[in-house]
Amino acid sequence: MTTVSKVTREMLESYLHCKSKGLLKLAREHGTKSDYEVWRRDLTARQQSGAVGNLTMRYRGYKVGADMALTVPNMETGPEVILHGKFENELISLSLDALVKTEPSASATQGQSYYIPVLFHDDEIRTPQKTLLELFALIISELQGTEPTVGLVCHSKGKPTTIRLTPGLQIARSFLREITELHQGLSTPMLVLNNHCQVCEYHDRCRAQALKEDNLSLLRGMNELQITRLNKKGIFTVNQLSYTFKIRRRPKRARKSSPVHHFPLRALALREKKIFLHGNPDMALAGTRIYLDIEGTPQSHLYYLIGVITISGEHESHDTYWADTASESDQIGIFARLLDHLNQYSEYRLLHFGSYETVALRRMQIHMAEPYKRQIENALKRSINILSVISLHIYLPTYSNSLKEIGGFLGYQWSDPSSSGVQTLAWRDRWLSDREPFLKAKLIRYNYEDCVALKGVVEFLEQILAAGPSGSFRDRQGTEIVPTSALAAEKMGRRYTDRRVSLSTIFERSTNFPTSTTNATGYLHEPADIARRRLSKQIGNYLRQTKS
Ligand code: SF4
Repeated sequence: MTTVSKVTREMLESYLHCKSKGLLKLAREHGTKSDYEVWRRDLTARQQSGAVGNLTMRYRGYKVGADMALTVPNMETGPEVILHGKFENELISLSLDALVKTEPSASATQGQSYYIPVLFHDDEIRTPQKTLLELFALIISELQGTEPTVGLVCHSKGKPTTIRLTPGLQIARSFLREITELHQGLSTPMLVLNNHCQVCEYHDRCRAQALKEDNLSLLRGMNELQITRLNKKGIFTVNQLSYTFKIRRRPKRARKSSPVHHFPLRALALREKKIFLHGNPDMALAGTRIYLDIEGTPQSHLYYLIGVITISGEHESHDTYWADTASESDQIGIFARLLDHLNQYSEYRLLHFGSYETVALRRMQIHMAEPYKRQIENALKRSINILSVISLHIYLPTYSNSLKEIGGFLGYQWSDPSSSGVQTLAWRDRWLSDREPFLKAKLIRYNYEDCVALKGVVEFLEQILAAGPSGSFRDRQGTEIVPTSALAAEKMGRRYTDRRVSLSTIFERSTNFPTSTTNATGYLHEPADIARRRLSKQIGNYLRQTKS
């Protein structure tokens, strides 16, 4: 891939999300922007113009310059505030959000004032924002000869946040090294699918490439570090990983720690198109079942929609609680209605997918009146996180444990195939400004479909758990469900059989050795090349023995 363009702000932000995205931007590749990305771009523009207003109001009475070139002379004689200063060299072409001068007394260099960088940003400040701010600091330190030790993050409302920069701007220096190598074509990032993919404009292209390569990052949750470790062991694909699953007894001291998710077992489930049941999950579902799904805006911790499906005896009902505004009273209102609904049942189980719902209940507990506080405590005691049961015990032939993927595997569909948790943020924001009824309907529909899929997943789990970990069986759709304890028994049997196979038989079989998934004995779980090496060693030993 030829890298032609200079490093821009868009490229840097893309790189901080995902290295591959940074490279694609550098190469001026175009993708299809998702609704979310378009909405996010507009929102950022709105927030930045709010932040400009906020900053200039705080620096009322000071000289403010805008859109000026950032050069040594301009920095020496520049105004107190520079908005959108332009920096350009052979590598970078960048507009810096703002620079503000320190008070002369705050300067370490003989009372001279100098600039510190400002980043406009409204949401939570994370590593990408800190890195970008530090990169701004590094750029201006070259021009003014003084390294800023702090930077500011300015929001559209309220006081700016002061960020302490690393000594010597080490983070920015190593980031700049990486970017330079990428620009010069000296390094190519490996493709690692990640959380940003669901809203990324290159989603289809990267997914297709990952499927073609059988890329390890298809397994959701597998990060770059884990992939690098596996690569060092010679494992590059999901299929190769599937041969490495071993039944191990957990060491005594590890038994008390939380159980782990086994990627090789998931890979095995995908290869064999089976469902594996690992361990002995416990899920008490007696009484009324209430399937809960809450929608909100994670950055601001606001909640606006609660959906529940209630199954009490033979009776099933669906309820929706909608908040028209982001006000605290509206939020308290919808949670109070949910708690009043729960209060009708003496015995119930609150079923949800992931921890978002319980976090929401805990957050709202602080704002609710006393009887509701106790009810929330009670509801939390009766809650079951279905995702955690699945993550630890059920290995489906799917690349992830998202509700959409598991629901899709079980045959559930969403009316809008592009719908996702992040997509709902864009719909809600548009609804708040336009009040278009179809957007509200879309959100309620999406929430309801999540509840329906959750109900389906729970019923499916129940079916598996009812059969227990005794032996393999098939679900209603015909997929084989295998307890991993059965795999262990099979493995014991296999060892015994292997020992009885004579070398000549192994040799005979090895001449017809299949190259794909199974070896001569037909059921050994090891890659063909490893099996071949093992066999040739045995044959070599045999030949040496017969010679002597
Ligand atoms: S789709 Fe994912 S892997 Fe590809 S560029 Fe976007 S974020 Fe990176």
